[in-house]
Amino acid sequence: MGKKLLASLFGVAAIVSSSLSSAAKMDAWHLEGRDLFEKVINIPTVEGRKKVNGLVTLLKGEFEAAGLTDITVKPHGDTESMILRWSSKTKNKAKPILLLAHMDVVEALPEDWSFDPFVFQERDGYYYGRGTKDNKAGVLAITMSMLRLKRENFAPQRDIIVLFTGDEETTGKGAELASTQWRELVDAEYALNSDVGGGSFLKDGTALGYGIQAAEKTYRTYTFSVRNPGGHSSRPRPDNAIYELASVLKKLEAFSFEPGLNEVTRAYFSERAKIETGELGEAMKRWVANPSDREAADYIEAFPTEVGKTRTRCVATRLEGGHADNALAQLAEATVNCRILPGIDPADVEKALKQLAGKGVEVTVSDAFGAPTDASPLRDDVVSAYTKAVQKRHAGVPIIPQMSTGATDGLFFRAVGIPVYGVGGQWIISPEDERAHGRDERIPISSFHENMEIWYEMIGDLAG
Ligand SMILES: [Zn+2]
Repeated sequence: MGKKLLASLFGVAAIVSSSLSSAAKMDAWHLEGRDLFEKVINIPTVEGRKKVNGLVTLLKGEFEAAGLTDITVKPHGDTESMILRWSSKTKNKAKPILLLAHMDVVEALPEDWSFDPFVFQERDGYYYGRGTKDNKAGVLAITMSMLRLKRENFAPQRDIIVLFTGDEETTGKGAELASTQWRELVDAEYALNSDVGGGSFLKDGTALGYGIQAAEKTYRTYTFSVRNPGGHSSRPRPDNAIYELASVLKKLEAFSFEPGLNEVTRAYFSERAKIETGELGEAMKRWVANPSDREAADYIEAFPTEVGKTRTRCVATRLEGGHADNALAQLAEATVNCRILPGIDPADVEKALKQLAGKGVEVTVSDAFGAPTDASPLRDDVVSAYTKAVQKRHAGVPIIPQMSTGATDGLFFRAVGIPVYGVGGQWIISPEDERAHGRDERIPISSFHENMEIWYEMIGDLAG
């Protein structure tokens, strides 16, 4: 083990055990949060297991015991979503704020993990279990903040609405229904999403910054189909569905969309350029200064940390074709999944794909999840409440606006004109703790408890 490695390991230990990492140091509110977290992690709220209602019952009980009783439970499919309203008694109150988290988690099988994913564990400065990071820490931060504010007789100057959805990881129906059919229950000036944002550090303690998510790419899936009369494989025809599809996919591999900046990614790359040294930082500076510098954008896009952030990306994800070993394929199909930049019409992406595919290849939309959304304009009040709460604990850490390359519940609200800000207050050690959706998911104990405090302070600031 080299000297450098020893130093970094010491760094991790120092961060992970910095504050609040042992039960002895925690006050009653943090201990209560930890105990509730254990119960929440132990409920396997995976699609198809019908356990979300158990979690709703548990959380509803906690809120009601604290006197927050305006709760609506909405069953949909085989899951549920939950809406809580804390009404302000103020006259001429401002429009409500909406707080978002999702209760469901991605499937986790004990044989894939080092232990049972649905038995909460506390060790080495971490809380372990499926959902510890995504997104049950967010559920807890919002719940514990609301309970504490209520007990302290906080008087909100606007209604605070909480929406906990039950299917973010799969269909997103809870958020979709809330943004449309249940709109009057959740209508708000803006939403704060606990599922995204948050900080990361290298294990030597170097801060990589905290993200505030204000934009998401649009999700679309297309099917490329090639049909052929087929025939006996002993007498190959000059045209062949599989070869035609393969050559179109090679064209797709070589193709790339025009890069584009929006308000959020411009702010992101401007901030990142200050931190990033060397060629990457230089390329970020060049691109922000001159958005038509495609060479700079291409250079940035090639980095694993930046992939998907400079443009729309489409990639082949599935392949199917033929019906027998000794027959020429009559149908060959590929699935192409696209993540489209905010502000770009999916119809234009479809047009570009059709042009690329050419004659003889049919391109159809096979999955359209959510409407395209523009970036949410960065609000001073939200940015400053988040910055204040984060920097109180990590002085001078950069706060960086972000566009998610994936999709969350937030996009359904942006689609109906409610701006959404991902302001998770948790942090992780990168890349060691990047385990959301993966095996042995975990969150540093001090990060979990900081997240509770940060949400408590932000809600108090923005609704006070
Ligand atoms: Zn999530």
